Amino acid sequence: MIPYGRQSITDEDIQEVVDVLKSDWLTTGPAVKRFEEAVAEVSGVAHGIAVSSGTAALHAIMHALEIGPGDEVIVPALTFAATANSVVYVGGTPVFADVCESTLLIDPASVEALVTDNTKAIVGVDYAGQPCDWDALRAIADKYGVALVADACHSIGGSYKSRPVGTLADLSAYSFHPVKHVACGEGGMVVTDDDELARRCQVFRNHGITTDARQRESSNAWFYEMVELGFNYRLTDIQCALGASQVKRLAESVERRNAIARRYMEAFLEVDGVTPLECSPDVLNAYHLFVVKFDGDGVRDAMFSYLREREIGVNVHYIPVHLHPFYRERGEEPGQCPVAEKVYGQILSLPMFPGLTDEDMDTVLNTIREGLRSV
Ligand SMILES: *Cc1c(COP(=O)(O)O)cnc(C)c1O
Repeated sequence: MIPYGRQSITDEDIQEVVDVLKSDWLTTGPAVKRFEEAVAEVSGVAHGIAVSSGTAALHAIMHALEIGPGDEVIVPALTFAATANSVVYVGGTPVFADVCESTLLIDPASVEALVTDNTKAIVGVDYAGQPCDWDALRAIADKYGVALVADACHSIGGSYKSRPVGTLADLSAYSFHPVKHVACGEGGMVVTDDDELARRCQVFRNHGITTDARQRESSNAWFYEMVELGFNYRLTDIQCALGASQVKRLAESVERRNAIARRYMEAFLEVDGVTPLECSPDVLNAYHLFVVKFDGDGVRDAMFSYLREREIGVNVHYIPVHLHPFYRERGEEPGQCPVAEKVYGQILSLPMFPGLTDEDMDTVLNTIREGLRSV
């Protein structure tokens, strides 16, 4: 099987993890700080707060922004459910915006139409790795005085108008799940330039306690205070050592992903009935996913089965979140986001990861060509 995404682990990565296992600190130790500093640096911001998943990063962000009951947060309909769920965790209401048909990125016009007196934040998702139109989103956020959040779980290592992902919103969330760019097993991080928002995320990931065990040990103090209700969302040194080692190869892996994308794009120019997403010349796309759209009724479903039967691990990203039963029960319904609902029937994510070989790509492309002739 050629999967749609796969991690790359080197001997150096393994050695870094072994070194932690032989050290004094398995969690809340020096590898956490090292990883946070490395990710903050590639993101061009002052603070990184490592947490146990991308979902925990989004939850911490909603907490830091003091989103609560009665507050609305605008999110795109075409994303992983966690983007919207994080708003529900804190008692807020996600409001689903539609996406642009050519890029599947959140549509700024749809966002602006949904702003009300209760809107507290806008979340852009850099779908498939392409940064959103952050200038347009920033203009809307500033016009209405609301916070701007990046769900950057697909786009670490990318940039928009030469500004790195991480600097484009007030707070950004990363995931270190193995199908993402940097693998920790499970893991996530909030990055921000804002000192106070960073402090609120740090307290939140550690039960709402204002100091961590390492700080208390170094100052020989036992006293601590729990000042608010937080969670145990810490990431271990074992995971951070792996992440810190992986981040060193981030630029190289984004480059390889772009080379793969160029090859797919060129090949699909010659194939009728399949269209890759458009990519703006203003961005460095981090290409977490390579998504194509199939024309014609039922073609995507037929191609999904055809490719899966031939060991090509394609997938669909995503079922529009407002169509899930949980959100339907909360009053969402089909028809709210017509573009997202339409493209959901057309999209397929093809294999895209740095270890994908040219031979694997030939197999994928040939099987798609054959499939389109026979389905
Ligand atoms: C992966 C992902 C998340 C959640 O990350 P986890 O680390 O799996 O919790 C959130 N949003 C998007 C867009 C993602 O792709």
